[in-house]
Amino acid sequence: MASRCWRWWGWSAWPRTRPPPAGSTPSFRHHLSTQEKTPQICVVGSGPAGFYTAQHLLKQHPQAHVDIYEKQPVPFGLVRFGVAPDHPEVKNVINTFTQTAHSGRCAFWGNVEVGRDVTVPELREAYHAVVLSYGAEDHRALEIPGEELPGVCSARAFVGWYNGLPENRELEPDLCCDTAVILGQGNVALDVARILLTPPEHLERTDITKAALGVLRQSRVKTVWLVGRRGPLQVAFTIKELREMIQLPGARPILDPADFLGLQDKIKEVPRPRKRLTELLLRTATEKPGPEEAARRASASRAWGLRFFRSPQQVLPSPDGRRAAGVRLAVTRLEGVGEATRAVPTGDMEDLPCGLVLSSVGYKSRPVDPSVPFDSELGVIPNVEGRVMDVPGLYCSGWVKRGPTGVIATTMTDSFLTGQMLLQDLKAGLLPSGPRPGYAAIQALLSSRGVRPVSFSDWEKLDAEEVARGQGTGKPREKLVDPQEMLRLLGH
Ligand code: FAD
Repeated sequence: MASRCWRWWGWSAWPRTRPPPAGSTPSFRHHLSTQEKTPQICVVGSGPAGFYTAQHLLKQHPQAHVDIYEKQPVPFGLVRFGVAPDHPEVKNVINTFTQTAHSGRCAFWGNVEVGRDVTVPELREAYHAVVLSYGAEDHRALEIPGEELPGVCSARAFVGWYNGLPENRELEPDLCCDTAVILGQGNVALDVARILLTPPEHLERTDITKAALGVLRQSRVKTVWLVGRRGPLQVAFTIKELREMIQLPGARPILDPADFLGLQDKIKEVPRPRKRLTELLLRTATEKPGPEEAARRASASRAWGLRFFRSPQQVLPSPDGRRAAGVRLAVTRLEGVGEATRAVPTGDMEDLPCGLVLSSVGYKSRPVDPSVPFDSELGVIPNVEGRVMDVPGLYCSGWVKRGPTGVIATTMTDSFLTGQMLLQDLKAGLLPSGPRPGYAAIQALLSSRGVRPVSFSDWEKLDAEEVARGQGTGKPREKLVDPQEMLRLLGH
């Protein structure tokens, strides 16, 4: 096992600084038993990846102690700040995460930003192993002229705004326009389109923030276009989200049957989930709806459409140059087959007028600390099955490990795998030997730097406050959006 790990990781420093991993000497065996008894592990980030990694470690190792550090004063990452407010069932995973946090061998420390309040080398010194699960906190830029104009924002910021992410709480997007364009055709793009078009009264009993609901009530947006460089066979959203969009109250779909020509034959060759998704698109675009659905669509006051084979070239300014007034799109056609299908420009251009442009071309991870390798091209920490390349004792899971794609279930599987690799290394004696101080050392550092961590029981007080604030208006909670207010409520 040990030699396999060396090969995977390519550690050159490890054998020079550590005893041989075969457990051959009595003192090494002693070290092994100490660290195996109470391994101190920390996880950076309290989204699904952080919590599922912790859950696996605690379940599979009867003595392991896991500390979870989180930069926000509140836990759960994108389950709180990404998942749409009208999808409350998805947020039930919070119950499992809460159970994990209640384990006597797990602690949550919010309001601690790793890389700023404490460094990764400091964590590695204090723990036997460190798992980086800090997600993807940035968005991919469009890199086209006009991107900086008022009226253009990332879908990530828009999602953060309606979900109460502190850094986006003051976004206040201007929804005084008739048409919004979303650049991208993934699930996040559909979430944003749905929130823009859902009758506000349907959002009143969700955990959307009061401020966002107020702006959406005043919204004049009637049409939302979702633009993609490729065609119907390449959309990145999934069937559940599409179905929901097609059935959205008060909204009708706009699909151009010409985009679907010849697709019937191609569908036969694609894997089943893609086939079902494309069939639904095809039916919606080409079949005459039944009388009930036809009446529903005819009376709809809002609409959404998929604009295929269009690549954004420029955000067009208004005549006074002060805000976005449209998007210039290059018409494309497809080249290549299967996964390698590429959109190439035909030379034709088209202008799509709109007052709001939301770029939804992907999230992106940031490097957290100069000591941690980072692949800026792929936006991930280079790793082999969760073991960070060339850094013994350092692991990663979730979106920062495999890139910003996949649902919570995918993140769970990959986090369990990282946990499994860590425990294999622990068993093989590949982690630092001897006891480690864990939180005691970090607490001293944080305190000397004036950082006051928020514990899980602190979070439960904030949680109770949010639930109480929501009760009057029939909402499951009214989220606190100001970290200073949260800390004040906790007496920090
Ligand atoms: P995150 O959830 O982003 O967690 C990372 C955590 O690390 C965050 O809490 C962050 O604050 C913290 N952090 C960042 N930097 C630091 C630092 N320096 N120090 C300490 N902490 C730090 N999946 C579904 O199954 N269903 C859905 O309906 C769904 N909707 C989604 C909607 C949106 C808009 C998005 C973007 C994703 C959605 N997903 C959904 C996917 C799901 O959210 C992800 O698969 C999952 O959250 C990834 O988990 P993660 O832990 O890697 O990242």
